[in-house]
Amino acid sequence: MRVTRTRAGLEAELEQLSGTRALVMTMGALHDGHLALVERARELAEHVVVTIYVNPLQFGPGEDFAAYPRQLEADLALLEPFGDIVVWAPDDSEMYPEPPLVRIDPGPVGGVLEGATRPGHFAGVLQVVHKVLNLVRPDVALFGQKDAQQLALIRTMVRDLDMGVQIVAVPIVREDSGLARSSRNAYLGAEERQWAGALAGALLAGVEHAADGPDAALRAARAHLDRAVAGSGGLVRVDYLVLVDPETFMPLQRGIRAGLLVVAAWVGGTRLIDNQLVSFRN
Ligand code: AMP
Repeated sequence: MRVTRTRAGLEAELEQLSGTRALVMTMGALHDGHLALVERARELAEHVVVTIYVNPLQFGPGEDFAAYPRQLEADLALLEPFGDIVVWAPDDSEMYPEPPLVRIDPGPVGGVLEGATRPGHFAGVLQVVHKVLNLVRPDVALFGQKDAQQLALIRTMVRDLDMGVQIVAVPIVREDSGLARSSRNAYLGAEERQWAGALAGALLAGVEHAADGPDAALRAARAHLDRAVAGSGGLVRVDYLVLVDPETFMPLQRGIRAGLLVVAAWVGGTRLIDNQLVSFRN
């Protein structure tokens, strides 16, 4: 494993590589979800570059930028078993030598759901993804289905700006309880962790009622989450739970075969997201 913190160091490492390269971008506090991306990256390319960087541009005022877990040594220990990979962990001055003036507009999908609750979030995400794709110049870049809206926007950016990199989605990695793995799970206390399972539980309830159609699926998911809201005495608060078109993130059109059930909720002070593709008969 070769670890570098500077642009010059990254460039020097990249010069050593011949053959295809895959990129995995993370904000650190690594868990099995991230490691699944690295594992898949190794299958898809001869070389793997992992970045660890908490991108300030994608956090809004009042969000958890300062509190976000930073644990580079522990992260490197988790990556060590992958052997011959390049890890780039820049600081802000390496990532943004100048405050960026030219910005990326995520378009309409950037303003709904996550984008509605977190104004500017996706502009910040696309800014850093675009920069890192330019710096690493990978053949393939891997992103988790966990952040489904982010994944869709990255695909759209790559298509609309002809960026010529293959984007690969990796399925959501979950804990035994069903809770989607997330660096933010570290914020959860024991009781909150129990209630956090309600997000995945609601998605599962939706899947179980898919045979009865989209309305029934959504109703079942809502009923499950509503029970958690009531039972937790306000610990669980729902931001949204909706069934959307998996590509446009707009409300599902009648007659469509599959929809993405997406949920965001606060459990105590922690905001969690999850999603699940639901297939209908027609
Ligand atoms: P983050 O460090 O949260 O920015 O995540 C870095 C990458 O890992 C993103 O592409 C995420 O979608 C992906 N990721 C995070 N959690 C999971 C998970 N539980 N399963 C699969 N991918 C994940």
